[in-house]
This record gives sequence, structure tokens and C-alpha cells, in this order.
Amino acid sequence: MKNFNFKSPTNTKEAAKLTTGRATFLAGGMSLLPAMKLRLAAYSDLINLKKIKGLSGIKVSSKSLRIGASTTHAEVAASKEVGKSISSLAILADGIGDPQVRNRGTIGGSIANNDPAADYPAACLALNAIIHTSKRKIPVDKFFKGMFETDLKKGELIEAIEFEVPEKSAYAKFPNPASRYAVVGVYVTKLKKEIRVAITGAGSCVFRSKDLESALSSNFSASAIESVNVSSKGLNSDIHASAEYRAHIIKVMAKKAVSSC
Ligand SMILES: Cc1cc2nc3c(=O)[nH]c(=O)nc-3n(C[C@H](O)[C@H](O)[C@H](O)COP(=O)(O)OP(=O)(O)OC[C@H]3O[C@@H](n4cnc5c(N)ncnc54)[C@H](O)[C@@H]3O)c2cc1C
Repeated sequence: MKNFNFKSPTNTKEAAKLTTGRATFLAGGMSLLPAMKLRLAAYSDLINLKKIKGLSGIKVSSKSLRIGASTTHAEVAASKEVGKSISSLAILADGIGDPQVRNRGTIGGSIANNDPAADYPAACLALNAIIHTSKRKIPVDKFFKGMFETDLKKGELIEAIEFEVPEKSAYAKFPNPASRYAVVGVYVTKLKKEIRVAITGAGSCVFRSKDLESALSSNFSASAIESVNVSSKGLNSDIHASAEYRAHIIKVMAKKAVSSC
């Protein structure tokens, strides 16, 4: 854990040049440093992103909301722009972990890490986000690949996340009482062209529920969810909740989210 070089580039080109060998980016360190301390991961170089100008900040237009990768959860939670354009996203950010985690952790670090129980992946998927990286723009449906796995290539830096501003949206989370990670989290959006329902915490990776989306497309109300059969097949089963319980909670959280839209 202690044997690594610490580098602090001031621009993205410099950062990209440093990503050789066993180097990795360091944002808030809220997931990376515990993994290194527990010896689950080891790196030769940590490339600190904090001094890179332009990686943090929030910009709103009528159609989209763009959040820089190094923007902290606390900044998103407190942002008037986010509160006005996508209030569900500000509420989600305010429910992540605890004040220490929210003050250090970043949106870019959260989605690059792609923890199966993290909140932001559900927001990205439900709000049809585009992930802007140092190399390309990745549509969210191609971004989250599996447990702790994304479409990012080695040395590819997330610069910003662009969210579609929805007509309606809400996030309902059944949190682990200790960490606040989602045992199940359901993010529902009514976008201009489609309804999206993204689920986190329940599987090995965030996923969309086509059954819930189809029910809500015909009738956007909590009662429309009643007749949907949410299968427990393939869902996580652990000390926090069985697969069957998670399937039940998905419906409960989906109804709660739709009622709050
Ligand atoms: C006690 C505790 C409770 C938590 N509770 C929750 C919770 O309730 N909900 C939740 O969603 N999360 C929770 N988290 C996780 C938290 O949100 C972290 O902030 C997040 O997972 C990682 O963000 P970070 O900025 O700290 O990234 P880091 O830990 O610095 O990095 C994580 C990974 O992302 C990579 N990375 C970072 N930035 C970029 C970038 N711009 N481009 C490409 N790769 C990048 C790093 O190389 C690393 O592999 C919790 C964490 C802790 C410690």
C-alpha cells in the first residue's frame, strides 16, 4: 500500500501521459484507498486529479445538465442548478454515505468504480447520460459492463457526465443502515421520448427493468407496478437480503419513486 509514487498533473494531457504501467487515477480516494489498505489492489503510481482545472463544476442548459468528474457529492447535493433542473439527482447525492464521504467522493470516481450498490450508476442509466472521457463520448447503455467493470480503457479519464433533463424523475433507496449503500435503489425517469427504470444494489451491476418500464409506459402511476412480476432470478442474495426480498423491495421502491415524481 505505501510503496507508490504520487503525481499531481494540472491538465488532462499531462494526466494521460502518466498512465503507464501500474498507474491509476486518484479522485476522492473513498473507494481506492480502502481497497489499497486492504491489499485488494496495488499500484505503482497514483495520479491525483484534484489539481486538474476544468474537471469540476456544473453547467445547465434547457436539455441537459453537465457535471464535471471531480465534482463532489456534497457539491451536487448543494447545487441550486441541480436542484432546479434534476432535483432527484441532488437528493440522491445527499443520501450517499456520510458527510465525510460526500465531501471527498466524486461523481467520476463513483461511476468509474461501478460498485454494484452505488447510487450514481442508477442515475446515469435512468437519465440516459453520456459519459465524456478524454477519448470519446460513451452512451450510458454501453458504459456499465459488470461488477466493478466499465467500458473505460486503460488511461481513459472521465471528464464529465451529461444528463438528460427529465420531465419527471425520482430515486428511492432502501439503504444499508451502516454504509448507506443501496440494498436496493430504484431510479425512475419520464424522459421526452421514453420511460427508464434503473436498479442498483440488487444485481452484480446496475440494470434497467424492461418490465417496469413497459408497465409505466402504458400508465405512469404506482398502481401500474402492482401487476408487474419482478423475478428474483439472478438477484444478489447475501447477509443483508435474500434475492426474493430484493425482488419484493424493487417493487416497493419503484412505487415509492413513481409516487414522488
Ligand atoms: C463509508 C463509505 C460509505 C459509502 N456510501 C456510499 C453510498 O451510500 N452510495 C454510494 O454510491 N457510494 C458510497 N460510497 C462510495 C463513495 O461514493 C465514493 O466516493 C466513490 O465510490 C468513489 O469516488 P472517489 O471520488 O472517492 O474515487 P476514488 O476512490 O479516488 O477512485 C475510485 C476508482 O475510480 C477511478 N477514477 C476516479 N476518478 C476517475 C475519473 N475521472 N476517470 C476515470 N477513472 C477515475 C480510480 O482510478 C479508482 O479506480 C461510500 C464510501 C465509503 C467509504
